[in-house]
Amino acid sequence: MAKPARLTQCSFCGKSHAEVRKLISGPGVFICEKCVALCETLIERGITPPPYIFAAPTTEVAALLAASPPPTPPIRLIKPAALKQALDEHVIGQEHAKKVLSVAVYNHYKRLQNNLAPSAKSQHPLSPELRAVEIEKSNILLMGPTGSGKTFLARTLARVLAVPFAIADATTLTEAGYVGDDVENVVHRLLKAADYDVKKAERGIIYIDEIDKIGRKSESASITRDVSGEGVQQALLKILEGTICTVPPHGGRKHPGQENIHVNTTDILFICGGAFVGIDQIVRRRAVGASTVGYSAIQQQKTAALSPEQLMRQIAPDDLVRFGMIPEFVGRLPVVSVLDHLQVEDLEKILLCTKNAIIRQYTKLFAMDGVKLRFTPDAVKAIARKAIELKTGARALRSIMENLMLDVMFDIPQREDIAEVVIDTAAVAGSRHPQLKLRASAPRQQKVA
Ligand code: ADP
Repeated sequence: MAKPARLTQCSFCGKSHAEVRKLISGPGVFICEKCVALCETLIERGITPPPYIFAAPTTEVAALLAASPPPTPPIRLIKPAALKQALDEHVIGQEHAKKVLSVAVYNHYKRLQNNLAPSAKSQHPLSPELRAVEIEKSNILLMGPTGSGKTFLARTLARVLAVPFAIADATTLTEAGYVGDDVENVVHRLLKAADYDVKKAERGIIYIDEIDKIGRKSESASITRDVSGEGVQQALLKILEGTICTVPPHGGRKHPGQENIHVNTTDILFICGGAFVGIDQIVRRRAVGASTVGYSAIQQQKTAALSPEQLMRQIAPDDLVRFGMIPEFVGRLPVVSVLDHLQVEDLEKILLCTKNAIIRQYTKLFAMDGVKLRFTPDAVKAIARKAIELKTGARALRSIMENLMLDVMFDIPQREDIAEVVIDTAAVAGSRHPQLKLRASAPRQQKVA
């Protein structure tokens, strides 16, 4: 009788060779890379697993891991000045927003540290009276034009603090029970970013974009959504205030009988962002109205002549309510900062000066092919100007650069004879190819354009 073909499958989860990336063999057994990783986590957290867990659905594995999270490391407090310095390495301009965020975040984590270990010996012992004071959470509202760095600031902050981070788009959110993205799914995304470590997720940051689009007078409402947007604000309000969120281990809809994970949102920092187009007119009306009381006509004229950016500096909670946000929601976002429109010089710095500046990234890519990449200062300015024309802030820079560099990035890897690529204004304008400089010693491969 012919010998049966040797069956290679993971002895733990039962997956075949074809279903996994690597099968490691031992005396009479096999194990796949996924089971190795799971074993590692189980050992790290001291969990004795039921043997069937390796073949169990991912939801069950997630529930098991969530029940025994790794010990949460102590909160790392970074002082505001150090936080701002770290943000400065990545974020150009937006000085006010960086300062406001640094202070708010320092206070937020100080509050968490105090709540976790109120009796711990502190460098600065508090009087019993002060010890009894509860510090409230200060969620943050970032207002500013598209591409001014709202999302980028929140993301960079989370990276500097080494806390999990998740982004949600308010326009896709619905109240529970409607077709769309449940507010609780946002918390699920954070939990996923924290590798299902609930404690870690509970110290994370959630950024909610386009918060201005769920104003009461929102016109983007459809029949499947709450008509006013108020319902979504109410739902968000709950997680902003702090609630126990029941999150299905796999995201999506909750099912009866399914084992869910509970996440307390009390200590999660929420940063909301939006452009709030037209709110400057609301501020203007209020400010001009106020200046009629007890002020001269000159004062009134001065207020009326303020630029939209100057007006935005005078934003008050009332203006947000008039814009369509419900008062309770506004009350939960006590820290507000208005971001500036980025100017040509800012965009030039974004291209050149930050730690991972776009041009630095391309320079690195070219250097990996042994080619020097140089942009003339005028070319950098021309790229920045092009982006300004598109009115999407720094967002346009990446696509302008991709288009500009495509042909040369396609050709260079197969050209041994190129020493340097120079991008000048003509190349940015598209009227001439980038200049290619040949190596002194290299054989000429083809005529340079
Ligand atoms: P917003 O959320 O305000 O619409 P983003 O934060 O998404 O804008 O900005 C888009 C991209 O532009 C970011 O990923 C980042 O690369 C870049 N960017 C925007 N603003 C800045 C800034 N002030 N400094 C450095 N890079 C920026």
